[in-house]
Amino acid sequence: MSTPTAPEATLLVVEDETNIRELLTTSLKFAGFAVHAAPDGNTALRLAGEHEFDLAVMDVMLPDMDGFTVTRRLRERGAELPIVFLTAKDSLDDKVKGLTVGGDDYVTKPFSLEEVVARIRAVLRRTRTEAVADDTALRVADLELDEDSHEVRRGGKVIDVSPTEFKLLRYL
Ligand code: CA
Repeated sequence: MSTPTAPEATLLVVEDETNIRELLTTSLKFAGFAVHAAPDGNTALRLAGEHEFDLAVMDVMLPDMDGFTVTRRLRERGAELPIVFLTAKDSLDDKVKGLTVGGDDYVTKPFSLEEVVARIRAVLRRTRTEAVADDTALRVADLELDEDSHEVRRGGKVIDVSPTEFKLLRYL
């Protein structure tokens, strides 16, 4: 490696809870990412105008506007960075809404830091491959749906989904 100190990617972390924001920022830096953090939507939008981000980790519940609104405004400006939502509860509504406003994945709170890092890397891999291949079929390439057992696997790991979620994934 000619540039061993170059960050793997530059991330925007949007989270109003100070403890979680600081924990995410520290952990993601430790994992090799460059990180800018915002405590609310307006700060996130300002930072997004000042820096080039490879991905945003976006809390849904923010004090000034929700994470979906932040995402919509970013998309309106033409920002195509992938978004991983942090959802407070295991809500299908939030997941569907997140995907429809142009989110790329979500992590449900409480989450493990390993899970967040793994999701970020998976989304970066997927979106970077897409940018090269321009093949939207790759968006779900890491998801396997088993019609018999109604199991969903991502990268060989079984994900818990309700029958409705399974239908939705199959539809997607
Ligand atoms: Ca929050």
